[in-house]
Amino acid sequence: MNQDVLLWLVIPCYNEQEVLPVTAPLFMAKLKELISSGRISDNSRILFINDGSSDDTWRIITELSSQDNHYSGISLSRNRGHQNALLAGLMEAKDKCSVTISLDCDGQDDINAVDEMLSEYTSGSEVVYGVRSDRENDTWFKRNTAQMFYGIIRSMGAEVVYNHADYRLISARVLNHLAEFREVNIFLRGMIPLAGFKSSCVMYSRKKRIAGETHYPLSKMLSLAFDGITSLTIKPITLIASLGIIAGLVGLAGIIWALVAALTGYNVTGWASTMCVVCFLGGIQLLSLGIIGEYVGKTYMESKHRPRYIVSESVNVNSERRVSLS
Ligand code: UDP
Ligand code: MG
Repeated sequence: MNQDVLLWLVIPCYNEQEVLPVTAPLFMAKLKELISSGRISDNSRILFINDGSSDDTWRIITELSSQDNHYSGISLSRNRGHQNALLAGLMEAKDKCSVTISLDCDGQDDINAVDEMLSEYTSGSEVVYGVRSDRENDTWFKRNTAQMFYGIIRSMGAEVVYNHADYRLISARVLNHLAEFREVNIFLRGMIPLAGFKSSCVMYSRKKRIAGETHYPLSKMLSLAFDGITSLTIKPITLIASLGIIAGLVGLAGIIWALVAALTGYNVTGWASTMCVVCFLGGIQLLSLGIIGEYVGKTYMESKHRPRYIVSESVNVNSERRVSLS
């Protein structure tokens, strides 16, 4: 019997009253199956995070908790968005378990992939990414915009696992390091690779939502993508600086051209001087903006106070750190 693996399933919920009564028993059945097969401790939990729902979600969570103490929940004071809700759950769990698995509450993330994730964990991976094996259930639009997003974010030099969202296993040790990432603009799937540690992937087929509607319309998807890019890299600002240099060179060529035109008589009165000023100022302004932006970007990155490196193991330094590997 493996009493060492204390698993917490971490599940954010926002206005999910139609979904929870259907999916909660499915999560519980999986938890009980893992407990009875001896793979996890009987103290394992299902933690629901109510992300400021305006419907009956919190009432359902409290009812579930009164029926079975394997269910637990926290409620946020208002809607803070999926990423914040998920982080709140992970931070709640980190000192009470040895490993977490986060998943959506709508049944899209195949709960059976948990078995393989736990196997990866027991063989040494501290982060296991759930990766979608296909996008058949997505619309043409979502499939293509998602692909574009991964293309852009990777070309900017940020590290994200392709086709992985927020279905993942994280050990308590990694979570304790994640707690040191103090940024407010969070994009977990980009932050977790930054923490390092041994990781692996498990493939699963993403299903359709059991009930209710997505909370990620196009506007939220775009803002998540933008947050992802700006929280992981300052490359866009570097690109502006490069654009400034190019514009400056084009401006210089414009000046020479206008002067030559003026001297050889192919001009309208005042045209050459206007062109010179427009080209010159345009180039210089963009270049200056880029340079200032570079500093603003660096200050922005600094203000996040990310750790410069993380010591993952130590010997004879009186570390009190909890050992979370089973
Ligand atoms: N969610 C949340 N807060 C929000 C929006 C969504 O906690 O502001 C939860 C939601 O209940 C679900 C998960 O985040 O468990 C993913 O949301 P959804 O299924 O709507 O997104 P999709 O799967 O369509 O991308
Ligand atoms: Mg969903």
